[in-house]
Amino acid sequence: METIQCDVAVIGAGTAGLSAYRAARNAGKRAVLIEDGPHGTTCARVGCMPSKLLIAAAEAAQAVREAPGFGVQPGGLQVDSKAVMQRVRSERDRFVGFVLENVAAMPAADKLHGHARFTAPNRLQIGANLEVAARAVVIATGSTPDIPSEWAAAGPRVISSDAVFEWTDLPRSVAVIGAGVIGLELGQALHRLGVRVAIIARGGSVAQLKDPHILAAATQALGEELDIRFRTEVAGIERHGEGLELRTRNAAGEERVEQFDYVLAATGRTPRVSGLGLDRTGLALEKNGVPKFDRHTLQCGDSCIFIAGDASADIPLLPEAADQGKIAGANAATYPEVQPGLRRSPLAITFSEPQIATVGLGYQELMNGREPFAIGEVSFADQGRSRVMRQNKGMLRVYAAYGSGRFLGAEMAGPRAEHIGHLLAWAHQARMTVEQMLEMPFYHPVVEEGLRTALRDLAKALQKPPPPPKPVQDCTPGC
Ligand SMILES: Cc1cc2nc3c(=O)[nH]c(=O)nc-3n(C[C@H](O)[C@H](O)[C@H](O)COP(=O)(O)OP(=O)(O)OC[C@H]3O[C@@H](n4cnc5c(N)ncnc54)[C@H](O)[C@@H]3O)c2cc1C
Repeated sequence: METIQCDVAVIGAGTAGLSAYRAARNAGKRAVLIEDGPHGTTCARVGCMPSKLLIAAAEAAQAVREAPGFGVQPGGLQVDSKAVMQRVRSERDRFVGFVLENVAAMPAADKLHGHARFTAPNRLQIGANLEVAARAVVIATGSTPDIPSEWAAAGPRVISSDAVFEWTDLPRSVAVIGAGVIGLELGQALHRLGVRVAIIARGGSVAQLKDPHILAAATQALGEELDIRFRTEVAGIERHGEGLELRTRNAAGEERVEQFDYVLAATGRTPRVSGLGLDRTGLALEKNGVPKFDRHTLQCGDSCIFIAGDASADIPLLPEAADQGKIAGANAATYPEVQPGLRRSPLAITFSEPQIATVGLGYQELMNGREPFAIGEVSFADQGRSRVMRQNKGMLRVYAAYGSGRFLGAEMAGPRAEHIGHLLAWAHQARMTVEQMLEMPFYHPVVEEGLRTALRDLAKALQKPPPPPKPVQDCTPGC
């Protein structure tokens, strides 16, 4: 058995792992990066980038469909589904290529291939013949898509999002189970590219939304375009010829049986920590098997183990994976000295239409807190620029603290939410007040004028007396 000695061992060469490896090297330490699959990262291979490439093709098709609304007659729409998937795959390969170039430039001795598992807190076994003894370890093992085993039993046509980006042609029909970010983005894109799509959602929510008013605006806009069925359960999936038979049951107990080419399970992702031998580390684990960790230092307990990216199940988004990797790698390099790193204001975007963005503290978090907060809002139905673009759907709600007037967060479903979300996240991180935000420039005619209307509404709400704080739950006997 060969043993490699190093300062920092990073498990997983995704976005978080690469970032951790770089941070440890920049601190002048000997680091190794262990990967058991193909290099290239989830983001580039099967995540952010190929999904946005598919959405870009869908937007092009939708622009043609909507052109007559402007008096422009483009003629019949034809989607060349093979060409669509060819572009998705070739551009995806280009993005993956950039990552592969970076990996190729690393010293060969730093790259280890194989499945890593702990044999002790600072010792890893890789395959049968290799062992790594490190001063500190970063777990950056990502996540895997969930497919319930009873669905998977129906065969290979029950897929996760990973499989979509391997298609060379579009299928005729897909049932998407789950109206979270991935289900909604892929479901709408496939629908717009001419695939018959039904989106089946167990609950009543879409993407990351929690504010009931924004949710209502989003579900109305999405429902006008998509076959999206809320409060509907999957009652069974069986093989049917080449495809699948899907049985669903709605809240009224009515069953529906339909055939689809594929069932796309978009029901969530699980942190990939189960095969890591964490029982050998002595770490305290959460119910989902993820070690307990400090979200500012990324350190697991007071051990020499750090965790970053989707594996931490904290905020499974790419910018978070990069930030967490940097913090974890830097702290692993200086262990046992650790420092809190920069955690930015929360920002999440869903690339549906209408786009969805959430910023700062979410509505649910604010409602769960004791402090009352003020709300301002704007509907995009009559917002000037949105109407000009025929994208006048959706709503924005902004939240602020009484007293200080500090901007706390926002939820939005509407036009250009990816950009408005950024403005709001910057204001949140700069700890701006609503008054300061209203002092900023607003051009004309722009969608941001809708944001100004919401902020003015919020400023007015802040002038009213706050509602009384919620009573503290009294848990004395007899309660
Ligand atoms: C369809 C889809 C769309 C998305 N869209 C967006 C988006 O628009 N914006 C956004 O911000 N985020 C998006 N995300 C999320 C984003 O892709 C992830 O948050 C991010 O890629 C996670 O990076 P990571 O480094 O944690 O994991 P990964 O990139 O998955 O890296 C983990 C690596 O660890 C390796 N590994 C695991 N276990 C071991 C082991 N025991 N030994 C050795 N190696 C191991 C794996 O093989 C893998 O290469 C999307 C995700 C999906 C699936």
